[in-house]
Amino acid sequence: MSSECQVRDTHRVILVLSGCLSAPTEPEAPLSAAVGGPAPHASVATDTADALAAGAVELPIRWSDVPIVVGAGPSGLAAAMDLGDALVLESADAVGGRARWAGGFLFMVGTEEQASFGSMDTPELAAADWEALTGAPPTDATRTFLAATDGIRDRLAGMGLAFRLDRPEPVTRLLREHAPTGGGPGLIAALVDHLPEGVEVRLSTPVRGLVFVDGVAAGVRTDEGWIGADTVVIASGGFVDRADLVELHTGWADGAWRLGSDYGADGAAIDWAAESGLGTSTLEALGVYRDVIGVPGADGDAMRFDSAMVYPWVWVDSTGTRFVDESATWSVLLSGLANSRPNVWAVTTKESVAAHVADEDIPLLVEGESWRCASDWTALADDIGVDPTALTDTMMGVFSIGARSMADPFGRGPSTFAVADGGTPCAFRPGSIAAKNFGGLAVDADGRVLDAAGGVVPGLWAVGEAAGMGVPGMGGAWGFDGSLSAVLWSGWRTAAAIRAER
Ligand SMILES: Cc1cc2nc3c(=O)[nH]c(=O)nc-3n(C[C@H](O)[C@H](O)[C@H](O)COP(=O)(O)OP(=O)(O)OC[C@H]3O[C@@H](n4cnc5c(N)ncnc54)[C@H](O)[C@@H]3O)c2cc1C
Repeated sequence: MSSECQVRDTHRVILVLSGCLSAPTEPEAPLSAAVGGPAPHASVATDTADALAAGAVELPIRWSDVPIVVGAGPSGLAAAMDLGDALVLESADAVGGRARWAGGFLFMVGTEEQASFGSMDTPELAAADWEALTGAPPTDATRTFLAATDGIRDRLAGMGLAFRLDRPEPVTRLLREHAPTGGGPGLIAALVDHLPEGVEVRLSTPVRGLVFVDGVAAGVRTDEGWIGADTVVIASGGFVDRADLVELHTGWADGAWRLGSDYGADGAAIDWAAESGLGTSTLEALGVYRDVIGVPGADGDAMRFDSAMVYPWVWVDSTGTRFVDESATWSVLLSGLANSRPNVWAVTTKESVAAHVADEDIPLLVEGESWRCASDWTALADDIGVDPTALTDTMMGVFSIGARSMADPFGRGPSTFAVADGGTPCAFRPGSIAAKNFGGLAVDADGRVLDAAGGVVPGLWAVGEAAGMGVPGMGGAWGFDGSLSAVLWSGWRTAAAIRAER
C-alpha cells in the first residue's frame, strides 16, 4: 500500500481510498452491485479493501470525513447548522429549496406572539385540535414535536427573526401559523447566516443515487463519481412536482390540482427508496396544501394573496353538496380535495368575491376559463355539471345560517368571509398548486432511515419533506399547515442524534 493510503473502519465495512490501490491482490467478488446497486442489504464482498484493490469497483472520487447532506433546503440547512461540519450537495444553483417561494408560515404553539392576542395555547390544545381535524390522535412523535415548537420559535427569534400572526379566520380556532420576517426567503437567509464555518455547500451538484456497501450507507453518486462518507443525510425534499409519483402514491391524477413543477420537488428520495429497498411511510394519500388563490409573485419570492385568508365561497363536490369546512387549515381542506374529490367547485356570488378581491385579480383565482356565472343556482348547477337541487339546498342552507348569525355545521361562523345572499351565482375551479407532501422515507424518531422491513439502515438519515416532514406520524392524508417548523426541527433533531452517534 502506498504511504497515502487511508483505511476507514465505518461500522461494519472498511472503505479504502485510492492510495491503497497500488498492490492488486487476488480478485474477490465484484463490488459493483453495491455501488449504486439495487438493494442496501445486497450481499457483497466483506473484504472491501481487497475488492477495491482488485479494481473490481469504481473508486470514490473523494472521501468526506464529515457527513454528506443531500439538499440545501430548510431541512438540509438546519441539519448542517447543527452538525457543525458537513458537506452539503445541492442540485440547484441556489440554496433554500421550496422555501424560496414559500410564505414561510410556521406552526408553533404557546408563543409570545399568541400571548399578545390573549391566547393561552398549549401543546395539549393543539393535540386536541389535531384529533378533531384529522379524526385520529397525534402520534407520540407528533406530540413531542408539538411540545418543542415554542423552543423552535425562541431559537429562530434568537437568529433575528420576528413573527407575525395575522390570520383573520377561522374564528373558531387558535392562531398558530407564524409568518417570519421576510417569509420563506427571510427564513432561509437567517439559516444561511448561522451556518458554521465547517459547513461546505456545493451548488449545482445533483446527487444521482446512494452508495451502499454491505448494507451500510457509504456515500452518494454524483456526475463526477461517487463521494464516500459514513454518514449521509437525505434532505432532498418531497415529490409533488412529479406527476408520476403523485399518481403512483396517491391515486390522484388530475382534477382541481396543478403540480408546481417549477419548484424542484424532484422526488429523488422516493426514487432512491424504490431503487434501494428503503421503507416509505404514509404514501397512501397526498397530503398537500395550497391556498386556492395564491400564486408566486412575478419576482418569484412573494405570493400575491395572503395564503391563510379564507375567502367567501363554499366548496361543493359533483353532487352539489358542501363537503368540507372552508375555514379548516389549508392542508386539511385541500387534502380532502386532492384525495377524494377531484371534481370540486368553489361556489359563491360575484358580489361576495368583489368585496374582497379586485376585478383585475379575479383571473388569478381561477384556473383557465373556469369562472362561470349564471342567472340562478339551477342554471349554474347545470353549467358546471352538479346536482341542481342539492346545490340550491346547500346555498340556501348557508344563507339561512348566515342570517341567523349562527355557526354552520362545519363550525364556520357568520363573518365577513361568508357568502352573501342576493347576488349573481358564480363558481370556479380552484387554481391550486401542490406545495408539499407529507409522505416520504420511513424514519425512526431520530430520523434514521428504515428499510422496507422496518430495520435501520446504518449511516443513512432523512429529514424534512423527504421523510414526510421528518416526524413519524405527521404524514398521511391530513397534514397541517406551517410544517416548516417540523422541517427545521427534524433537521436539528437528527443532527443531534448523528453527533451523539459519531
Ligand atoms: C409556493 C409554496 C409556498 C409554500 N408555503 C409554505 C408555508 O407558508 N409554510 C410551510 O410550512 N410550507 C410551505 N411550503 C412548503 C415548504 O416550502 C416545504 O415543505 C419545505 O421547503 C420543505 O423543506 P425541505 O428542506 O424538506 O425540502 P425542499 O425545500 O424541497 O429542499 C430540498 C432541496 O434539495 C434539493 N435537491 C433535490 N434533489 C436533489 C438531488 N438529487 N441532489 C441534490 N440536491 C437535491 C432541491 O433542489 C432543494 O434545494 C410552500 C411551498 C411552496 C412551493
